[in-house]
Amino acid sequence: MNISRSEELYRTALDLMPGGVNSPVRAFGSVGRNPLFIDHAKGSRIYDVDGNAFIDYVCSWGPGILGHAHPEVVEAVQKACVDGLTFGAPTGKENRLAGLIRDFVPSMEMMRLVSSGTEATMSAIRAARGYTGRDKIIKFKGCYHGHSDGLLVQAGSAALTQSVPDSAGVPASYAMQTLVALFNDRDSVRELFENNKDQIAALIVEPVAANMGVVPPEEGFLEFLREITAENGAVLIFDEVITGFRLGIGGAQEMYGIKPDLTTFGKIVGGGMPMAVYGGKKEIMKNVAPTGKVYQAGTLSGNPIATTAGIKTLEILGDHPEIYLRIEQKAKELAEAFRLRSVKRQIPLHVNQVGSLLCAYFTDVDVKDYAGALTSDTKAYAEYFGELLEHGIYVAPSQFEAMFVSGAHSDEDIRRTIEVLTA
Ligand SMILES: *Cc1c(COP(=O)(O)O)cnc(C)c1O
Repeated sequence: MNISRSEELYRTALDLMPGGVNSPVRAFGSVGRNPLFIDHAKGSRIYDVDGNAFIDYVCSWGPGILGHAHPEVVEAVQKACVDGLTFGAPTGKENRLAGLIRDFVPSMEMMRLVSSGTEATMSAIRAARGYTGRDKIIKFKGCYHGHSDGLLVQAGSAALTQSVPDSAGVPASYAMQTLVALFNDRDSVRELFENNKDQIAALIVEPVAANMGVVPPEEGFLEFLREITAENGAVLIFDEVITGFRLGIGGAQEMYGIKPDLTTFGKIVGGGMPMAVYGGKKEIMKNVAPTGKVYQAGTLSGNPIATTAGIKTLEILGDHPEIYLRIEQKAKELAEAFRLRSVKRQIPLHVNQVGSLLCAYFTDVDVKDYAGALTSDTKAYAEYFGELLEHGIYVAPSQFEAMFVSGAHSDEDIRRTIEVLTA
């Protein structure tokens, strides 16, 4: 595989940006390679600057549920551009997107549009603190909620493979307000509530943890979180930045039948453009400025172009619920192929799959939590990554990321991927 043009761009980038990238996991550091620079992408394929084509299972880390450059989304965006890129004033489009979200996710009684998942989770926590008048929050080890100071504690994904569980530059006094529990471990949650009576503003969780690979909640775990937060007057925040509009149009909360107090969305909700949302109970959200005292703002919030991409994407998903069945079926076929690979090559592999999200861990442990995820052989992952890349298949350059199936993955794409996986 010729990657000379990528290598050249990478050398230039190294001098311009830390590690040559604008988000750490793009650097391919944990698979011991240099990043490919992308030229364009269409449907299920991504093309690098040297003309290599790959079947893409990263899907821009989640947004690409319809595949790349979906013609209807692109057309809507092109039309919207002509009318102006940003106004800094309200538009009917924001109503349309918020209305769609509330139709699909009834717990979203009132919401705010923002520009990134990080902004959404940070703002949701501020709203919860303002509402409760409390400071402490609970998060789970291995769950990622963006890179705001208080949430960069034991934070999964890039932070896992790069061995920076706690970022430099985060004041200890911030981190102290963040209590860390273990996913799928009720006792760890109980203990924190008992030891911090009437001090917990919120508990934030990825209802399906998708930043330590893919770890589903055990039976009853989310119900337990709903109960214990309600008993303690704490706000339950579902971070559905990945799972929202992915595990079905109503996200994880619909799939598991739990109503959180607040929810954050990102990735899919912007249809590939910078857009995220936080919202939930009116009683909490009306405390946000200008109606309330919790300040939160954004020059480009509800940007008309990003909003257009989000609306079109959600409309397509709403009109075509069969997409969800199709992508789940394909994810199941891929999961099966990993099991076959394990048998054929006599290597330990354990696959977790929820809807169109899956992750194959190079371990013989049944991965149910963060400690289980960490048993994976990341060297074996790096080899697997290289093998797939050489065969024209692009998966996440890290063990602790999900593999995403999109509506653009054809039967032929899946067949080809299975062939490579089981060779
Ligand atoms: C990606 C992600 C975020 C952060 O979103 P950004 O848009 O990258 O800031 C937050 N929470 C979860 C669960 C995510 O997967």
